[in-house]
Amino acid sequence: MDIKDLIIIGGGPAGLTAGIYAGRAKLKTLLFTGSVLGGQLMLSEQIDDFPGFPEKITGPELIKKMAEQVKKFDVEMIEKNVISVDFKKRPFVIKTDNEEYLAKSVIVATGASAKWLGLKNEQELIGHGISACAVCDGFFFKDKVVGVVGGGDSAMENAITLTKYAKKVFIIHRRNELKASKKLQEEVLSNSKIEFIYNNVISEIKGKDSLEGIYMQDVNTQEKRFLEIDGLFISIGYKPVTDIFQNQLDLDNHGYIKVKENTQTSADGVFAAGDVCDTKYRQAITASGLGAMALLDVDKWLR
Ligand code: NAP
Repeated sequence: MDIKDLIIIGGGPAGLTAGIYAGRAKLKTLLFTGSVLGGQLMLSEQIDDFPGFPEKITGPELIKKMAEQVKKFDVEMIEKNVISVDFKKRPFVIKTDNEEYLAKSVIVATGASAKWLGLKNEQELIGHGISACAVCDGFFFKDKVVGVVGGGDSAMENAITLTKYAKKVFIIHRRNELKASKKLQEEVLSNSKIEFIYNNVISEIKGKDSLEGIYMQDVNTQEKRFLEIDGLFISIGYKPVTDIFQNQLDLDNHGYIKVKENTQTSADGVFAAGDVCDTKYRQAITASGLGAMALLDVDKWLR
């Protein structure tokens, strides 16, 4: 059976950048993009902080360009989900629904997905008022009123970022205590643009083509009220896509892949890159950087 030098699992910026570098390094490589190429970037309407695109670019356009560059270097791409892996065997075994593939090395770049509230209208309004990333989309809310849902570090960071653009930022949290680190809490509490709405959950999202506002309900009094906002940043946590690696790689308490040295995981010859192992930066550019680093580590390891 054909044994690849490398199999990359994941078709976001980390996986695609690793693919470009693998092609350039002349490694016999196969890249699984998942059922849809692109990952979280596919949700970004306008990107103006990825170097090289001063005119702005949409997430899907950026992904398309990256994928073209991967193909240019003769890396085979398959738009399928990997459903199981065996990193205990050599060569490694990677399975899709109908095929089995073998590889000497693997880069896991399956990313993370933002958690959503699960309310009606929520998915339809992503990119039209609803977002999970203030760094990506905050710029489009200049002098607007926005809401952030959540009480963790991501919510605090999103709120702080949004104060650079919006005239008012509400943080809507379901409890009256924050989960975020004390340092971030202090920063948020001392910012005059930010106002807290504690003990409230969002019960309904109003808007058809763009967000008009949200209905909230007080968890103690059950009292309902409407808040008119232009943007809503859902910051209730991220979920790394690591279900298939549960018994194969060391994961941290949140399910992120633990990397030991550089991009090396707990399985010798298996490397990780991007949001699947990054709880801190979570940018397209940092994911791409980690993808390049993983490939350089793979190349050295194979040699
Ligand atoms: P998180 O710590 O899990 O916080 C999620 C927040 O969302 C919690 O306050 C939670 O409420 C709330 N929440 C969850 N589900 C909800 C729902 N359905 N409706 C309303 N609210 C809901 O997630 P995170 O803030 O994304 O952070 C994830 C990890 O990354 C953490 O370890 C964090 O420290 C780390 N991180 C670090 C930094 C940094 O160091 N600068 C930045 C971002 C993230 P409860 O409080 O009631 O549970």
